[in-house]
Amino acid sequence: MKTVHVDLGARAYDIHIGADLLTRAGDLISPLLQGRPRVAVVTDENVGSLHLETLRQGLADGGIEMVALTLPAGEATKSWPHFTRCTEWLLEQNVERHDIVIALGGGVIGDLVGFAAAVLRRGVRFVQIPTSLLAQVDSSVGGKTGINSALGKNLIGAFHQPSMVLADIGVLSTLTQRDYLAGYGEVVKYGLLGDRGFFEWLEKNAAAANGDMEARMMIVKRSVEMKAEIVVRDETEKGDRALLNLGHTFCHALEAATGYSDRLLHGEGVAIGCELALDLSARLGLCPQEEPSRLRAHLRAMGMKTELSDIPGDLPDADDLIALMAQDKKVKGGKLHFVLVRGIGEAFVSADVPAGILRETLSDALRGSTG
Ligand code: NAD
Repeated sequence: MKTVHVDLGARAYDIHIGADLLTRAGDLISPLLQGRPRVAVVTDENVGSLHLETLRQGLADGGIEMVALTLPAGEATKSWPHFTRCTEWLLEQNVERHDIVIALGGGVIGDLVGFAAAVLRRGVRFVQIPTSLLAQVDSSVGGKTGINSALGKNLIGAFHQPSMVLADIGVLSTLTQRDYLAGYGEVVKYGLLGDRGFFEWLEKNAAAANGDMEARMMIVKRSVEMKAEIVVRDETEKGDRALLNLGHTFCHALEAATGYSDRLLHGEGVAIGCELALDLSARLGLCPQEEPSRLRAHLRAMGMKTELSDIPGDLPDADDLIALMAQDKKVKGGKLHFVLVRGIGEAFVSADVPAGILRETLSDALRGSTG
C-alpha cells in the first residue's frame, strides 16, 4: 500500500492506494471512528452488486457494522431527487456529527455523497472509496462535491474534504473498457499539465497497465500526487487549481452539445478537449506543432476517441460550440479562460485567446482536419 498525504492543516487526510483495500477497510477506517463502530455506506447498483459484500466483510473484520443504501447507476443520480433520498436515509439511520459516511463508487456517488455529508447536520465526516479510474485519480481527491442542475453540471455543491480516501486498484478490474479509458483521459491530463516525464512513461507503459498492478499503481499514485499538490496550493480554485481544467472548457461544451448522454463520457471529452487545447496552443504559436500530433497518436494507441467525428451523431457548428463554452463556469467577467500549454508538461491559464483562432480550431476539428 502507498499513501499520499494531503496537507490541508485541520482538513488534512491520507489517500491510501493498494490492491486489496476493501478487505482492509475495517482496520484502516476504525481509527477515524469516535463513537459506535458503525458506518453508513452509499453506493450504486453496479458497484454494489460487485463490491459491497467485500466491503461489508472488510469492515466486519475490523469490528465495524455497516448499513447501506444503493442508488441507481449513472449521471442522472447526481440530482435533487436522489440527493433528498440520500440525506433522508442518512437521517433515518441516525447518522450523527461524529459518525462516518462512506461513498463507495465512481465520481457520481462520490460527488453526491460528499455533498450530502457537507450539509447533513451542517457537516459530517466522510470517506471516499472510489471505484472507477476517474474517481481514483481525480474526483475523490480535493473536496469538490455536488450535484447537477437542469441549468448545467455541478452547479450546486460545496467544498468538503473527505477524512480519508481508499483507492483499491483491484476493483478497477471490473470496470468496462470504455469506463476505464474514460478515466484514462484524466490520467493523461496530469502528464500534459505538469509532468512531461510522466507523459513519456505513459506513452511506453499505459497500454499494458489495465491488467498490470504495478503499472496501475504508478498511474493512480502519480495522478493523485499531482492533484494533491495542486489542491494544497489552492484548495478553493482561486489560482493554480484551474490548471486541472485543461481540456475542460472544450469538454463541457461537447458534453452540453451531446446532452450529457452516453454519446460522450466525461473522460472521453477531457481527452478530446486536451487535444483541442494543444492544437489551439500550437496555432497560437505557444507550443511546438508536433505536440498535438504526439498526444493524438498516444490516445489512438490506447484505443480512445481522438476526433470529433468519433462522437456518434451530429455536433453543432463552431459558433454554437463557442456559445456553449461561454456558459461554462470558467468564464470570468465575460471572458473565456483557457488552459493552454507551452509544450507537453507546461500548462498555464490564459484569458487572451483571439476568437478567430478559436473558431478556426473548432471548424477544422469539426471538418476532421487538424493543425
Ligand atoms: P460514474 O460514477 O457514473 O461511474 C461510471 C460507471 O462505472 C457507472 O456505471 C458505475 O456504476 C460504474 N463503476 C464504477 N466503478 C466500477 C467498478 N469498479 N466496476 C464496475 N463498474 C463500476 O462516473 P465516473 O466516470 O466515475 O465519474 C464521473 C463523475 O465525476 C461526473 O459526474 C463528474 O462531474 C464527476 N467529477 C467530479 C470531480 C470532482 O473533483 N469532484 C472531478 C472529475 C469528475
